[in-house]
Amino acid sequence: MNKKSVKDLRCLKGKKVLVRCDFNVPMKDGVITDENRIQGALPTIKYLLEKGARVTLCSHMGKPHSIFSEELKLNKKDKKKVEAGETTAEAIIEKAKKDEPKKLTLAPVAKRLGELLNGKVVFATDVIGPDAKAKRDALKDGEAVLLENLRFHWEEEKKDEAFCKELAYDATIFVNDAFGTAHRSHASTAAIVEYGIIKTAACGFLIEKELSVMADTLENPARPFVAILGGAKVADKLNVISNLLEKCDTLIIGGGMAYTFLKAKGYEVGTSLLDEEKIGYCKEMLEKAEKAGKELLLPVDTVVTTHFPEPIDEAIEVKTVDANMIPADMMGMDIGEKTRKLYADKIASAKAVIWNGPMGVFENPTLAKGTIAVAQALADAHGKCTTIIGGGDSAAAVQQLGFADKMTHISTGGGASLELFEGKVLPGIACLNDK
Ligand code: AMP
Repeated sequence: MNKKSVKDLRCLKGKKVLVRCDFNVPMKDGVITDENRIQGALPTIKYLLEKGARVTLCSHMGKPHSIFSEELKLNKKDKKKVEAGETTAEAIIEKAKKDEPKKLTLAPVAKRLGELLNGKVVFATDVIGPDAKAKRDALKDGEAVLLENLRFHWEEEKKDEAFCKELAYDATIFVNDAFGTAHRSHASTAAIVEYGIIKTAACGFLIEKELSVMADTLENPARPFVAILGGAKVADKLNVISNLLEKCDTLIIGGGMAYTFLKAKGYEVGTSLLDEEKIGYCKEMLEKAEKAGKELLLPVDTVVTTHFPEPIDEAIEVKTVDANMIPADMMGMDIGEKTRKLYADKIASAKAVIWNGPMGVFENPTLAKGTIAVAQALADAHGKCTTIIGGGDSAAAVQQLGFADKMTHISTGGGASLELFEGKVLPGIACLNDK
């Protein structure tokens, strides 16, 4: 990677460093339920503190209604409710003003960080207000302050220049270690450097690790290189499919998106998830694979049900049929046994594998077998193959199954890793200084 890393920064003692972290951890009733992201940020923070830097940490948490802003920002769900006359924008904002400062505060993260860093971290109750300024002014060498949730300001996502200046405050160095938001072009992820407000900009160890494993594998993979894509819709992953097809030797398709491919092959898919508008695209991809001499594997059999489980973990009756025999009134919900074996064998003969997206409706235990089989095959390849899990549902599946330590790399950013798989340059990385 040709971007500067924290290791390339010299004379950090006494320097004011602004670090963008991804502390968007899952929380329930004010308690952190998974602290992976906090642990992931520690190497960079510890390094900076040991070098005597004065560190300001910042992050977003969830999707607040930008409650301290003049601009009313409603999310899609709320907009629908307003349009349906169920509530008003004002009522939503009133409720947000009451709930969100408590629900989406980073205070619990600061508390946990303080425990992990021997009390070297304090919390500022605002982002660019008097508390943040006073606490940043009071920092001594080797101390840190965590600012409140960046997204309490609408200016964060709108890349407002005045906000960037206030956020930079007295920092002369920017370190981006938030891989999970590196694909977003926001004030704290890119604009603060793009506007020339902070000129020295490097990545932290987490981003460095994510890039060195994922970008290097994509650019120069050990072969055979197998890419596995699952998840709901073809439309969400168009460029990923096309880019990966160029890079890999075998592209394996599972999940809901497989049925549009099967339809493109001329099969009937019953009531399975089907993206009519993308059938043509799938045909193109099948042709592209054939022309390039690449393998594009689709399910040969599929687990079908009469309906989508409701609730999602409903005890549901299933049967398995060949992929070209899906009954007109049934829907494909998971890859079948023959397909599981086919995909596992392909993984067993690979030297590098990347995986994004479940093979079926894995939230339901009866429909999780395909996803588990792929995770198991990757765990079995431990030591023989580079295995990369591109965040999101597949990362959660691997972790829940206890296979995490059997994988070469589990990305902390689902969206960001998908954009890397697409071949895109991430704004949070593009803005950093070259080496
Ligand atoms: P994505 O966010 O695109 O990775 O999609 C993940 C979602 O795809 C999960 O919630 C799965 O339940 C869903 N999914 C996987 N396979 C199917 C399928 N055959 N039919 C409908 N949804 C599916």
